[in-house]
Amino acid sequence: MPLLLDQIKLTHPNLYQAFSLLADGEQHLRGIMELDRYWQLLKQPVRKVILTGDKLPKDAVISGEYDLIYAGGTLSLLHAAVMAGKYGRKVMIFDRQTPAKSTRDWNISRKELLNLSATGMLTESEVDSVIVRRYKTGWVEFYQPDGSQKRLYMENVLDCAVNADKLLGLAKEKVMAVSGSAVFAEISFVCCYRFEDHIVVKVEDRKGKAFYYKTKVLVDVMGILSPVAMELNEGVPQTHICPTVGTIASGFEDIDFETGEILASLEPADTLPGRGRQLIWEGFPAENSQFISYLFFYDEIDSPNDKSLLSLFETYFKKLPEYKKLGKDFDIYRPVYGIIPAYCHNGFNRTRKIADDRIILFGDAASLASPLTFCGFGSMVRNLPHLTADLDRAIGENTLSKKHLGRISAYEPNVASMANLMKFMCFNSATDEPNFVNDLMNEVMIVLDELPERYRQAMFRDEMKIEDLMVVMFRLALRYPKVLTATWEKLGVQGSLGFIKNLAGWAFSPVR
Ligand SMILES: Cc1cc2nc3c(=O)[nH]c(=O)nc-3n(C[C@H](O)[C@H](O)[C@H](O)COP(=O)(O)OP(=O)(O)OC[C@H]3O[C@@H](n4cnc5c(N)ncnc54)[C@H](O)[C@@H]3O)c2cc1C
Repeated sequence: MPLLLDQIKLTHPNLYQAFSLLADGEQHLRGIMELDRYWQLLKQPVRKVILTGDKLPKDAVISGEYDLIYAGGTLSLLHAAVMAGKYGRKVMIFDRQTPAKSTRDWNISRKELLNLSATGMLTESEVDSVIVRRYKTGWVEFYQPDGSQKRLYMENVLDCAVNADKLLGLAKEKVMAVSGSAVFAEISFVCCYRFEDHIVVKVEDRKGKAFYYKTKVLVDVMGILSPVAMELNEGVPQTHICPTVGTIASGFEDIDFETGEILASLEPADTLPGRGRQLIWEGFPAENSQFISYLFFYDEIDSPNDKSLLSLFETYFKKLPEYKKLGKDFDIYRPVYGIIPAYCHNGFNRTRKIADDRIILFGDAASLASPLTFCGFGSMVRNLPHLTADLDRAIGENTLSKKHLGRISAYEPNVASMANLMKFMCFNSATDEPNFVNDLMNEVMIVLDELPERYRQAMFRDEMKIEDLMVVMFRLALRYPKVLTATWEKLGVQGSLGFIKNLAGWAFSPVR
């Protein structure tokens, strides 16, 4: 079979060169192309994967029976470890790749991570064992042509680098320790057949051999490519996205290993054919001499920009030396990548569909996290105690209808409202000056700098209170009145109304 790498040699020379040096470069390229299938899926007719029980083939043999079956083996492991270990539920997890192996690494603060020991999933020392580095401080900075940008420092925000595979490996061990539970690799979700009192999940192995498993609830944790999310949301599972690529590498010359670079832009928007994008870097010291660097941008799902990971990776390798100085020992440990999903709810409450009868969606499949700073990992860790306790109760009471399961979600009204701010970071050459996103964000940094540190910590930890957001917005409008016209241009009537509804929902929510 011709190598995929050879096929991109001329079109993506920088990516080709970097990945050719990796032992598993070809495999990662395959993974990137697999994720980029998302853009085609959005244009195709929605595949029906939730079928009625009468469609189950008569000769289907049930290979096993579980309380919960998780399709997808990343964040599912955290949830499943609690359901199995704490609540004694018999769980099965399968993934079309290798469960507990992620193409990302995560940053979070220790206080937030301690939710994992609060649920009893890990001990506190196990939590500490997955933190591979802790920084003294972190900063955010947006480019100004005259070098006057405000570097906003903050402590205890995304200041712990977590080894994702180590954490997921521990969770997997917890699942496997519970008799009757199982974790399967290289098994793909095909469809499910729903009956009144159970659901049958059809899966396939790499050779195309089908298997059927019976469960009380199917938990869809298949991430951005979830066909279940696609079906439930009628082909529009996300409104915005944040394509993200990067590497974990060593051999940079100018790294401060005690500081996290939470957001850093180095230049005005990249005006591509399409509509343009504001590229943003993130940089986090990791284990030993390793440093994680990411390049990403925010965009609307249906913008004409090329949003493929493949093309962003080419840009990443071209521009990386502008962000960090590569030494002669520069060495890539592994690439990291993914399409971070976002959903702006047009309503007072959650409008994204995240459940159906006997089906529930978590993680990126549910797309309830804010892509601004924290994403799906932070959201899962924060919400894990109630996402597990509530699902256990629902199973015990047999209240597994769409209405009941829909109440078990990581939806947070403050996060939903804050996600609107991402729209200001989606560059649009039709309405924006090339440095628009940087100018606006630089003003936000100045406003935050003038306020007590708790404002910036809350904003970057998804813990904002509505009254605090109002203070920030009011001060911003006074300092930078352009934000008012920009709001109109960026959000339009629909978007502005949606934002107001989100804020009203937040104001009247019991969790403020
Ligand atoms: C580079 C990068 C860095 C990030 N850093 C942070 C961070 O610091 N903090 C934070 O909070 N969040 C971060 N995020 C976001 C976070 O990684 C995601 O929210 C999280 O991985 C979502 O987990 P998930 O299990 O929902 O989906 P995924 O991680 O996408 O996992 C889905 C799994 O489902 C499997 N699958 C898909 N389709 C099928 C199928 N048909 N059958 C079987 N299996 C299937 C896939 O193989 C995959 O293993 C980052 C994301 C990226 C891309």
